[in-house]
Amino acid sequence: MSPVYKTQGSFFCRYIYPDYLCHMRGTILDTPVEYLKGVGPVRAKLLKEELNVIYFADLLQVFPIRYIDRTIFHHISDINSDLAIIQVKARVVQLQSAGSGRSMRLSAMVSDDTGTLELIWFQGIRWAKAKLQQGKEYIIFGKPGYYNGRYSIAHPELEEVAGEAGSSVQRMQPVYSSSEKMKANGFDSKGMARIIHSLIQTVYYEIQETLPILLLQKFRLIDRRDAFLGIHFPQNEMHLRQSTRRLKFEELFFIQIEFIRQKLHRQAASRGHHFSIVGRSFNRFYNEVLPFPLTGAQKRVIREIRADMAGGHQMNRLLQGDVGSGKTIVALFCMLIAIDNGFQACLLAPTEILANQHFQTLKKWADAIGVTIALLTGSIKQAVRSPMLRDLASGGLQILVGTHAILEDPVVFSQLGLVVIDEQHRFGVEQRAAMWQKSVPPPHILVMTATPIPRTMAMAFYGDLDYSVIDELPPGRKQVATRHFTDSARIRVFSFMRQEIAKGRQVYVVFPLIHESESLDLKDIQDGFEAISRDFPLPEYAVSIVHGQLKPDEKEYEMKRFVKGETQIMVATTVIEVGVDVPNASVMVIENAERFGLSQLHQLRGRVGRGADQSYCILMTKDKISVEARQRIETMVRTTDGFAIAEADLQIRGPGDLKGTRQSGAIELHIADLTTDGRIVEAARQSALEVLTIDPELSLPGHRALHDRLVELTSVQRNLSRIS
Ligand code: ADP
Ligand code: MG
Repeated sequence: MSPVYKTQGSFFCRYIYPDYLCHMRGTILDTPVEYLKGVGPVRAKLLKEELNVIYFADLLQVFPIRYIDRTIFHHISDINSDLAIIQVKARVVQLQSAGSGRSMRLSAMVSDDTGTLELIWFQGIRWAKAKLQQGKEYIIFGKPGYYNGRYSIAHPELEEVAGEAGSSVQRMQPVYSSSEKMKANGFDSKGMARIIHSLIQTVYYEIQETLPILLLQKFRLIDRRDAFLGIHFPQNEMHLRQSTRRLKFEELFFIQIEFIRQKLHRQAASRGHHFSIVGRSFNRFYNEVLPFPLTGAQKRVIREIRADMAGGHQMNRLLQGDVGSGKTIVALFCMLIAIDNGFQACLLAPTEILANQHFQTLKKWADAIGVTIALLTGSIKQAVRSPMLRDLASGGLQILVGTHAILEDPVVFSQLGLVVIDEQHRFGVEQRAAMWQKSVPPPHILVMTATPIPRTMAMAFYGDLDYSVIDELPPGRKQVATRHFTDSARIRVFSFMRQEIAKGRQVYVVFPLIHESESLDLKDIQDGFEAISRDFPLPEYAVSIVHGQLKPDEKEYEMKRFVKGETQIMVATTVIEVGVDVPNASVMVIENAERFGLSQLHQLRGRVGRGADQSYCILMTKDKISVEARQRIETMVRTTDGFAIAEADLQIRGPGDLKGTRQSGAIELHIADLTTDGRIVEAARQSALEVLTIDPELSLPGHRALHDRLVELTSVQRNLSRIS
C-alpha cells in the first residue's frame, strides 16, 4: 500500500496562480467548508489554519496518510526491534501520569492475551487522558521502542474498538493526520473521516470527469468520482490502488499538459536567431582538429542543439552530462555554429580558475581553425581589457570566455548569438537575465550542468524546458576506485597517500562544512590541515589549504600552487567541488564522508580520474554511521555512474531536497510521488504530448472536460517558460 502525502496546494494553485482563482467554478465544490455538516465557523477557521482548507474542493483533497487494516494485529509478545510499525488490539490495565508542567508525562500499560506494552505521551496529554479509559480495548498503532527492558510506544495512534459493530468493521479504514489542536477540537483522524465522509455524500454527483475517455480506456483508469471515493473509503486494496493510480495520473498529466503548452507557446512567441548554416569553422574543426572521435551521445546532443538553434525561436536548453562526459567540446561545437552564422558566442564559468581552464582548452582549438578568442575575468588588466572590449564591440572577437565580469555594463557585443553557461547552479536568475539584455533578439542559451537528475525528475521539473543529456562517457576512462575506511585505518590511508605522492601524484583532502558557525568549520579544517602538515612535513611535502573564509586572491593563489604542482596535498572544503581540473591529482580523500550528500560526494570524486592513471577516492567515516549514511557510502563504492547515483539518491532521501535544483517554479505534488511513480510520470508525459499534438488548442469535443479543467487550474496567464 503506497503512502499518500498530505500536502496542501497543487502545482497550479500554489505556485502559479493565487488560491482564490482555483475555485471560480460555481459548483457545490466551491462552497466554503464552514457550511459542511459538522463543521461550522469555528472549526472552519481551524481547518483553514491547520490544513489550508477553505472550500469543499480542498477538503476533498486532504488524503489519508494511510489505512488501517482492522483485521490484522500483532501479538504483544511478537513485538521485536525489527518491526518498524505495529498494530495491536489491547486493553488499558493501568494509567499513570508523572511530573508536572513541561515535564509531565502520561503512561498507559496495555495488554492483550500475550503480554504488556507501555504507551507514553509527553504532549497532548489532555487529549490522551480524555480518550483513554481503564479496562477499555483499543486499536493501537505506532513505532515500538525498547527502553528499560521493555517495549513501549511514544505517542501512538489510538482508537477505541467499536463494541458490537465488530463484524461490519471497514477493512481499510482511512487515517488522517491531525495536529494536537485539531484533535482538541474533534478533528482527530476519526473526526476528519467523519466530515470527509459527509462531504463525499454531499458532493459525489458533482465530481466531474476531467480526462478524455480514450485515456481512461487506454490506461484503464477508473472514473474520477470513484477515485475520490476510493482514496478516502476504499472497499478493498484493489479499489485503493486503482483510485490512487487514477489521481496520480491526473495530477501528473495536467502538469505535463501545462508544461508542454508553455513550451509550445514560448517557441511560437519568442523570436530567435536563425542559425541555418553549418559552415567552415565547424567542419574544419570536426575534420582537421578534433583530437578524438565524439561519443554517440555527444553527436546526438550536438544535433539536438543545432536543430534547436535553426528553428527560428530562441533556444533555452539545459545540457546535462556527468562529470567528465565531455561537455566542453560540445559547447565549442555549438559556439562554432554561431560563428559560422556570423555571430559571436560566449562561455561563462562560475570561477576565475574555471574560466581560465576553459580558455586554455578552447584557445588551442580556436587558434587551430583561425577563430578569435579572448578571456575576460576580474583580474584582466585594463591595458588588455580595453582593446579586447573594442574588438568585441566591433565583431572582431568571436568567442569570449569569462566570469561574471562578462555581465558588466561596458561589455558590449556586436552580435551575440549564443551564451553557454557552465555549472549553472552557481549562476543566479538575475545574471542570466543580464545576458538576455546583451542582444536583440536575445541570444540562444545553453546551460550546462554536471548534477545528474533522474529522467523522471527531469521530466517533472524541467518539463517546460528543452533538455539534452550526454549519457555516455568517452571510451577508455579508468573508473575511480572507491574505498571506504573508518578513522581507525587512518595510518594506512596516510601511507597510501605517501605512495601516490612518491609516484608524482597529488592528493585532495576535503572536509565538510558541518557547523552552524563558520568559525567552527574553520577550526575543523585548520585542525585537519595541521595534522596533515605534521604527517607530511616540509621540505618533502607541501600542503595547500583552501576554504570559504579566504579572500578570493588568497584562494586563487593557493589553488594555483596546487594546479601547478608546487604543492602535493590540497586540504579544502567543498569550494573545490565545481569543475577544477588537475589531471595529475589521483587521490580524493573525503573526511567525514557520512556528512555529505550523494551528489556532493559524486561531484567531489569527479575531481580525480581526469588523467591517464588509475585514481582513487577514499571515503573516511566514523566507525558508527547511520543506515542512510551507510547506504550512501555503499552506493559510492558500488558505482561511478552519475545517473545511477542520482537514482539511488532519490530512493534514499526522496525527491524533496532535489526540488531545490529547480531554480524557479518548484512543483509541490499532492499525491504523486516521484520516487515511486516514474512510470506514471512517463505515461502522463507521453499522453499529454499525444493529446496536444492532435489538438493543440484542446478544442475537440472529446477534450472538452480536459479543457475546462485546465482553464480552471490556470485562470491566469502567466509566463513561467523561461529558464531565467
Ligand atoms: P565535463 O563534461 O566534465 O565538462 P570535459 O569537457 O572537461 O568534461 O571533458 C573531460 C575530458 O574528456 C577532457 O579532457 C576532454 O578533452 C575529454 N573528452 C571529451 N570528449 C571526449 C571523447 N569523445 N573522447 C575522448 N576524450 C574526450
Ligand atoms: Mg566541465
